[in-house]
Amino acid sequence: MLSLTIIGGGLAGSEAAWQAAERSIDVTLYEMRPIRNTPAHTTDQLAELICSNSLGSNLPDRASGLLKAELRLLNSFILRIADETAVPAGGALAVDRERFAQIITERIAQHPHIELRREEVKSIPPGPCIIASGPLTADDLAHDIAHLTGQGQLYFYDAIAPIVEADSIDLTIAFRQSRYGKTGESEPDGDYLNCPFTKEEYDTFIEALLAAERIELRDFEREDAKFFEGCLPIEIMAKRGHDSLAYGPMKPIGLRDPRTGKRPHAVVQLRQDNLAGTLYNIVGFQTNLKWSEQKRVLRLIPGLAKAEFSRYGMLHRNTFINSPLLLNPTMQFRTRADLFFAGQITGVEGYIGNAGSGLVAGINAARLLNNEALLEFPPMTMLGALCYYVTHADPKDFQPMKANYGILPPLDASQSPRGKRDRFRMFSQRALNAMGEILPLV
Ligand SMILES: Cc1cc2nc3c(=O)[nH]c(=O)nc-3n(C[C@H](O)[C@H](O)[C@H](O)COP(=O)(O)OP(=O)(O)OC[C@H]3O[C@@H](n4cnc5c(N)ncnc54)[C@H](O)[C@@H]3O)c2cc1C
Repeated sequence: MLSLTIIGGGLAGSEAAWQAAERSIDVTLYEMRPIRNTPAHTTDQLAELICSNSLGSNLPDRASGLLKAELRLLNSFILRIADETAVPAGGALAVDRERFAQIITERIAQHPHIELRREEVKSIPPGPCIIASGPLTADDLAHDIAHLTGQGQLYFYDAIAPIVEADSIDLTIAFRQSRYGKTGESEPDGDYLNCPFTKEEYDTFIEALLAAERIELRDFEREDAKFFEGCLPIEIMAKRGHDSLAYGPMKPIGLRDPRTGKRPHAVVQLRQDNLAGTLYNIVGFQTNLKWSEQKRVLRLIPGLAKAEFSRYGMLHRNTFINSPLLLNPTMQFRTRADLFFAGQITGVEGYIGNAGSGLVAGINAARLLNNEALLEFPPMTMLGALCYYVTHADPKDFQPMKANYGILPPLDASQSPRGKRDRFRMFSQRALNAMGEILPLV
């Protein structure tokens, strides 16, 4: 008998269970709620949406909409139920969260190849297994995962700096340079883009930062002092002294603005975030400001007045492994062939991205058990690009990533339209064609 254990009945675990069960694998799905709760879930239902009821854009020329279109082609269980329980939300796909979770729970419980057990798993079991225990993985299992992955390869807290789309940075202001003209960098002028501040610009920026609205931390985050001190947000640093940032992440030492020939009063440094060079993260700029406020305040940075953000800064408890060192894009653990990871614990972000990684893990665990070759989804599809990103990003500073066009391989320069919308349309068409080609194998 071909059997598979799945730990965690969230978005990833439920999708993985369905995909494997539909391929005649007997699945035991462990969900610890309601026996043991997480600090954020409030019900005993599978696939509970713990925050927003929006699953993001439904438009095929948006990154999240493209991912949905791909998952519909792949017969995603979670997306089918989302479509069944959709509520009006303009171009977005939002769901009636109670019906959504209730229908998923009922269908999983009734599936002839799935046994749903309400039980906390405290250690990684032997035999074929998918770990999909999410950002709030219970402590005992988290410690066992840390033991498996090695110290330092499992993160418990997440302080994320925003990411900017490269073509929205004003390069007549931002300049490429490394501190003290350090050599050995991949770009001849240095690997960093620097946004230079005059004293007046710095003062205005700090004032806006201090006045901006922050997201309230949840109780469980506030209670843990280590969480807060370990990843100080810029707005808290600024509160400790007007010049704290100028001596910290915004220090200008070793840099000279080519426009003035002088050292700026302060700088914000941007570091390339993906291989294609289409995304840059703001170095040391973890923040917990409200997203609308981040957009407003960060656009005061010289060179970022028209910045488009592919990810905003965030602080929350988040358990995720260092996937670039540990997983293949098939979601298989590199040093244990019958073990797979799926969902937020792999560093994929967003409800639908997490369901997607569950689909990849579920299909591949079933293929392993059926003695078939594992499937890697093409990197020009949004699903393939997400799996590729989380398994190939820089492991030194690995941070979670959601679906966005910046992670796709660039379009052929000679064919790439100038307008952003046209470019996105072309990315989407290329992705859906690639997914269409691989479908007969799935
Ligand atoms: C506070 C907070 C707010 C968020 N808000 C959003 C948002 O608005 N939009 C968004 O897209 N994403 C949001 N996220 C990220 C969100 O968690 C993921 O997008 C999605 O829920 C992840 O799916 P998952 O299946 O990986 O994990 P989950 O959906 O969390 O599922 C994991 C499941 O595993 C169970 N489990 C854990 N440990 C064990 C164990 N040892 N044994 C058995 N079962 C176990 C849990 O009870 C849970 O049901 C938020 C995360 C947090 C922490």
